[in-house]
Amino acid sequence: MDPFDLLYLFNPMALQAIKVSDLLHNLGSQDTIPFEKVKIDDVDLHPEHLINGIMDLQSMSAERVGATFREVECGLNSVCDHCGKTFIRPIWIDHYDCTFTSNISPSDIEDEVFPIDDKENIHIDEPLRQAILLDTPVAVHCIDCINDENLQANALTPDEIEEIDYSEEGGTVQFH
Ligand SMILES: [Zn+2]
Repeated sequence: MDPFDLLYLFNPMALQAIKVSDLLHNLGSQDTIPFEKVKIDDVDLHPEHLINGIMDLQSMSAERVGATFREVECGLNSVCDHCGKTFIRPIWIDHYDCTFTSNISPSDIEDEVFPIDDKENIHIDEPLRQAILLDTPVAVHCIDCINDENLQANALTPDEIEEIDYSEEGGTVQFH
């Protein structure tokens, strides 16, 4: 058994730092790493719905590793924007692609690029945090409010917001 697997058995949190030396030194090599019950600081995860998912890694060069997080699921403690009720908001991320590099430049920071540290470890917290943030809707609604047709009839979908005509014909905003 790989010593890292052993470490993982005794300490699931250790998975948040993953050694990628083999990938960096074997161009084109791949690895698939399932993870479960991952916690992230500052993300209000329900304790029974921590983050599960799978990460595919691919060696791209001596300093870059490509990653796809897939089938990521968890539940966030949330407050409904409409009725104020607290509920567990399910998160499902089909896939999220990013790159890890040991040669990160400041311009990479916003571009789904994350650092490989000087011990050749990657850390999955930050990409998972980004992926979850991308999955956050403009308005958070509990299941009761999502199923409330009257509320939904009055709510704007993102498509409708894009279609708002700001030409101000007659001084009113036109909805299509
Ligand atoms: Zn609600």
